[in-house]
Amino acid sequence: MLYICEAGKFADAAFSCWRTGSNADPTIRIGGSGGDTDNEKVGIEMGMTITEKILARAAGRDQVSPGENIWVKADVLMTHDVCGPGTIGILRQEFGEKSGVFDPESIVLVPDHYIFTDDEKCHRNVALCRQFAAEQNLPHFYDPGTPTYSGVCHVTLPQKGHCRPGEVMFGTDSHTCTHGAFGEFSTGIGNTDMAFAMGTGKLLIKVPASMKFTIDGALPEYVMGKDIILRIIGDIGVDGATYRAMEFCGSTVDALPMSERMTICNMAIEAGGKNGIIAADEATLGYVRERTSKPFTCFTSDADADYYSVGAYTAEELVPVVALPHSPDNMANAADCEDVKIDRTYIGSCTGGKTEDFEAVARILDGRKVAVDTFLVPATVEVERDLGTHTVNGRTLREIFHEAGCIEPAPPSCAACLGGPEDTFGRCNQEETCISTTNRNFPGRMGSKKASVILASPLTAAASAITGHVTDPREFLS
Ligand code: SF4
Repeated sequence: MLYICEAGKFADAAFSCWRTGSNADPTIRIGGSGGDTDNEKVGIEMGMTITEKILARAAGRDQVSPGENIWVKADVLMTHDVCGPGTIGILRQEFGEKSGVFDPESIVLVPDHYIFTDDEKCHRNVALCRQFAAEQNLPHFYDPGTPTYSGVCHVTLPQKGHCRPGEVMFGTDSHTCTHGAFGEFSTGIGNTDMAFAMGTGKLLIKVPASMKFTIDGALPEYVMGKDIILRIIGDIGVDGATYRAMEFCGSTVDALPMSERMTICNMAIEAGGKNGIIAADEATLGYVRERTSKPFTCFTSDADADYYSVGAYTAEELVPVVALPHSPDNMANAADCEDVKIDRTYIGSCTGGKTEDFEAVARILDGRKVAVDTFLVPATVEVERDLGTHTVNGRTLREIFHEAGCIEPAPPSCAACLGGPEDTFGRCNQEETCISTTNRNFPGRMGSKKASVILASPLTAAASAITGHVTDPREFLS
């Protein structure tokens, strides 16, 4: 079944093509360049990347080029308990105390960072979000302490149907680039920009040049999306993609589940990327269609699109890697770091707290015991529920973790991924080394500046939990 068409390949027909026949779905548009009206013209002057096409649509233009400053219409605006109060304050200051947001339906408010703490300032932040949601009558507020609470924003957004191909999403969180996994342009912005976007629905941005990363071949069972992105960041450096779109493609990417695509796009920002993006395919549409009935447009890069750079990887040659302290580009093969002792293991966050991440951990821990404190934090309530229903070798994930000696899973939130108050579950409060499925390991990221954080895939983190030192998961998978 064909949803995506290559510009040029299908000529005029591609750009006026709504899917027809028995599989017709009038909410799915096969997109070309420019706008999304019925009678749009092809208008190809030069090939465009998927990022450029999405931004062109959002700007109401047929063509955009890297470096241009354009006004784009935002489809989804997300903020959370850390940046929400600041954004709200700027919105009121600049638009007036009684001002309304441009479109309550487009705004998603997800308190997730500092939820399970006794810290009064954190409670106040959540209370300010709650008050704003009530004042503005926001339909998408995931309120802590109520049945609507969900957990980590970047896992909540797709699970709750806020991610759609072809759209533009802005979030007051640098890892908003996660949602490029759904074939959309998604990026992090500051509070001031968010206040402006909430008030007007638009934002002025510079079109990023695109870097293409092609990964082809069959991914070995011991290599995960985290290994792929850590390898890329290790190769290009933490400033290797500054203000560029990181476009991931190839047969390996095509075969990845959405959870792994999210992990890859999530860490585009760790290379300085403006956004990460993967064109939508059957897997994307299957996921999205289960969660939203809103129409959307699928775009893909033209064959003659212009790239800042093109890189290629062979999946069969990839191995488990880690990012040693204190930078995500301090990459090393896990097998070469067996002398690096760890004091604790942390499994959680938007790159390591999804259901599939815990399933990977369970594959390693099943029938074994951890040697160090092992903290488990499901990203969302949905993931937390899955721990009790999803099984590996006939036993639930929760049972496997309990028998392995892990600390009982915490309620869903960002928990120690961003340190947080001292009473935060899993926080590093002293000089210690933590191997973590999170995405950032600068000094102080998970609490104390004396702590050292090693970034790893869920498989590698689990294998290391068993041995007490950095361990290649192949030791336990063979
Ligand atoms: S889990 Fe970590 S990276 Fe993800 S949104 Fe929370 S603090 Fe940020």
